[in-house]
Amino acid sequence: MAQARKALSKSAKRSQGRAPSSSARAQVKTFHNYIGGEWVASVSGEWFENANPADTRDVVGRFPASTATDVNRAVEAARAAFDRWRHTPAPRRAELLFRLGEILIRNKDRFAAEMTREMGKVLKETGGDVQEAIDCTYYTAGEGRRLHGFTTPAEMPNKFAMCVRQPVGVCGLITPWNFPMAIPSWKLIPALVCGNTVVIKPAEDTPLSTFNLVKACEEAGIPAGVVNLVAGYGDTAGRALVEHRDVRLISFTGSTETGRIVASTCADRNAICSLEMGGKNVIIVMDDADIDLAIEGALWGAFGTSGQRCTASSRLVVHKKVYKQFTKKLVERARALRVGDGSDPNTDVGPVINADAVHKIMGYVEVGEREDGARRACGGKRLEKGEHAHGYFIEPTVFADVEADMRIAQEEIFGPVTCVIPADSLEEAIGIGNGVRYGLSASIYTRDVNRAFHAMNEMYTGIFYVNSSTIGAEVHLPFGGTKATGNGHREAGTQVLDIFSEWKSVYVDYSGKLQRAQIDEVNFE
Ligand code: NAD
Repeated sequence: MAQARKALSKSAKRSQGRAPSSSARAQVKTFHNYIGGEWVASVSGEWFENANPADTRDVVGRFPASTATDVNRAVEAARAAFDRWRHTPAPRRAELLFRLGEILIRNKDRFAAEMTREMGKVLKETGGDVQEAIDCTYYTAGEGRRLHGFTTPAEMPNKFAMCVRQPVGVCGLITPWNFPMAIPSWKLIPALVCGNTVVIKPAEDTPLSTFNLVKACEEAGIPAGVVNLVAGYGDTAGRALVEHRDVRLISFTGSTETGRIVASTCADRNAICSLEMGGKNVIIVMDDADIDLAIEGALWGAFGTSGQRCTASSRLVVHKKVYKQFTKKLVERARALRVGDGSDPNTDVGPVINADAVHKIMGYVEVGEREDGARRACGGKRLEKGEHAHGYFIEPTVFADVEADMRIAQEEIFGPVTCVIPADSLEEAIGIGNGVRYGLSASIYTRDVNRAFHAMNEMYTGIFYVNSSTIGAEVHLPFGGTKATGNGHREAGTQVLDIFSEWKSVYVDYSGKLQRAQIDEVNFE
């Protein structure tokens, strides 16, 4: 097809690094949107490039820079498919999802390798990302044979009362780049099992992994129009989806700032809105902790995914009695981490996602250096030579002697930077832990069960760990956070079904007469 396509200049991962040679560019694959069961180019013909953050000369693919016109077509396709899909019995819908799970298993290694190429995190972690999508698919598909409602006694005699779930309608799913298959699956699978149809708008930095997921849906035989995919930028395609009056529900994961915009647009048109947003998570290390274990947890939590997890351990609050010992060991171990291309099995820490992220993270390193009293104990530099010359690499960075109200201890950095904060007591540590605007994940290292339960009770977060890092959620438990992290919903577990279905209360009166609840007396004789 000789359709003219022009590349948009705005592509964060392409904003730095050398352009690929013209022969390399000629081989770059072009991907399409998936609308109504067809793979189609954006109506405008515009596209953007997705580059490897470990080496920006490596262009992963060209993806449609969709506009409101594409979104409208996708919503129309989802609307048209809704009645047939909601009338398909839930156990039958689930059968297709089990098939999807098998396809994901078969392709796990390829999907993980492609995810590392577009997103940067090390292969072990991208394998985990795909595995999470598999787990979510199997677990949630099982709900096709449950989707429990409940029965309850009615106030009046010869009257039956029950509650059933009904689907919501067309759902818009907007996802971030750091878990590019797991997070879309957390939304897509429960939406489908509940009988909804969807339009997904993946993050502009990692569309390929979501394309892989949707392609697998097609292969599993999910009917045309039930799943639609529209790639593009947040302020065009994303916004059009949020504003669309036929999209009954928006499920959003991303930054708190974007979440606020999404929420207020949804409020204007009475759309349902579920938000999963930022975090500033804490590990508390008590004086009775197994220090080596706590160091393992801190390293994994702070530098896994290069610190780009909503649950990253970006604050380590350490009891003063073990503070020196902990900080010394942590810094030694952080210095030894190998930063490089995530596809190299020897790499511990991959690149960060794009040039904007480098700018933001290095900005926070400067902020930390300017804070009175805080000490950069290791890292803090961008790596730009040799194997790092063409990617977005930052050294694992530890700030020590940090105070709880410093900006680096309050704001989400979303990079390989963590802060060690001394504390005198458990109560002080809990106060520091709760003293941020976010409320996603917290953990404590202690051998004292009383302290562990006390902290579990007092930390106002959606997730809490004992003797484990702040990361490591499993799909059959609810996931989400308090305060600026969320708006009261939970993904995963069976709790996610409350996002993607609405309750209908049903009263069946078989008395054969008018019975007025709250008015008619019941005769006890
Ligand atoms: P982001 O808010 O920049 O983007 C998220 C998504 O929203 C992207 O698909 C983007 O295109 C879209 N978007 C941007 N502007 C929009 C608009 N005006 N209308 C509609 N959509 C719009 O976030 P990000 O940089 O992709 O992700 C990082 C953030 O996500 C971090 O804050 C992290 O903590 C958070 N996150 C939270 C969770 C969680 O479960 N709580 C999980 C992963 C990531």
